Amino acid sequence: MSENHKKLIVVGSGAAGLTAAIYAARGNLAPLVFEGSQPGGQLTITTDVENYPGFPEGIMGPELMELFRKQAQRFGANTQFKEVNEVDLSKRPFLVRSNEEAYRADSVIVATGASAKFLGLDSEKKFMGYGVSACATCDGFFFKNQEVLVVGGGDSAVEEAAFLTKFASRVTIVHRRNTLRASKIMQDRAFKNPKISFIWDSEVVDVLGEEKGGKKSVTGVRLKNVKTGESSVRESSGLFLAIGHEPNTKIFRGQLELDGKGYIVTREGRTMTSVPGVFACGDVQDVIYRQAVTAAGSGCMAAMDAERFLEQSD
Ligand code: NAP
Repeated sequence: MSENHKKLIVVGSGAAGLTAAIYAARGNLAPLVFEGSQPGGQLTITTDVENYPGFPEGIMGPELMELFRKQAQRFGANTQFKEVNEVDLSKRPFLVRSNEEAYRADSVIVATGASAKFLGLDSEKKFMGYGVSACATCDGFFFKNQEVLVVGGGDSAVEEAAFLTKFASRVTIVHRRNTLRASKIMQDRAFKNPKISFIWDSEVVDVLGEEKGGKKSVTGVRLKNVKTGESSVRESSGLFLAIGHEPNTKIFRGQLELDGKGYIVTREGRTMTSVPGVFACGDVQDVIYRQAVTAAGSGCMAAMDAERFLEQSD
């Protein structure tokens, strides 16, 4: 086997990818892990993780992922801060390309997760990084004593809003309906938080801002009430999007079976994809649970499925 020919390549390094790496490394598969553009995955942009078993006091997302990585490395996983930009899964060994480097793999585990969704407004793009953000953990600090808006009605929106109250003077959640999708416990906390208020049945239709001396900043948003059609302007220095995620499956299009939303289709209750020898785990194939613990669980399953596949195909 040449230096660039691996038994197993894991693409992605969130809870799913790194758990797959732990199990595969312990199974002597010496996995090569491409960590991708967001090493550690979505948990690295989360603050307190309160529902991961084994941490009764909670743990910070980045710290948890660092522990996952160390555990995988301890058993011989080779984790690389590199991104995969092309794969050819039409024949084995599979081709996995990271920039100019080409690797061959007898099996591949896809754990590329999902990324934050945006509203799709030109003005949102224009002010991205200048007041518009999809990561409160990353950017909340810049909004000390300022008013900010959060768009969304799920757990992410409520969690981000609560986090932002540590910095902002007021946080307003803008939701397109009049009931939240977030879990009851998170809703209760948000309703009790004096710094959080709500604008119901409304959508952000434009991001307003200014450009002074070459520096862009957000000054507010234009809202539309979806029931009355009424338009209004709301002043705000920041706009945080928390409207869900999209699976990171671009490089697998046309090679693996995907569902209507672009998530990888796996065999029911297993991690096998439409290509024998390619397995998928975590948020990239999970539209239902999307939790760190379920991602980790499916990462374990993918490594065990890959191990069995390699044993049988040797
Ligand atoms: P989500 O549950 O899919 O919620 C997305 C929210 O954004 C919904 O309220 C949706 O409105 C709204 N939305 C979607 N597209 C929109 C658009 N174009 N314009 C305006 N609003 C839009 O996503 P999430 O909150 O990111 O949560 C994803 C998963 O992770 C869930 O299973 C959640 O429980 C989990 N999670 C858990 C925690 C935790 O337990 N600590 C924290 C974060 C996330 P509608 O309600 O009208 O559809």
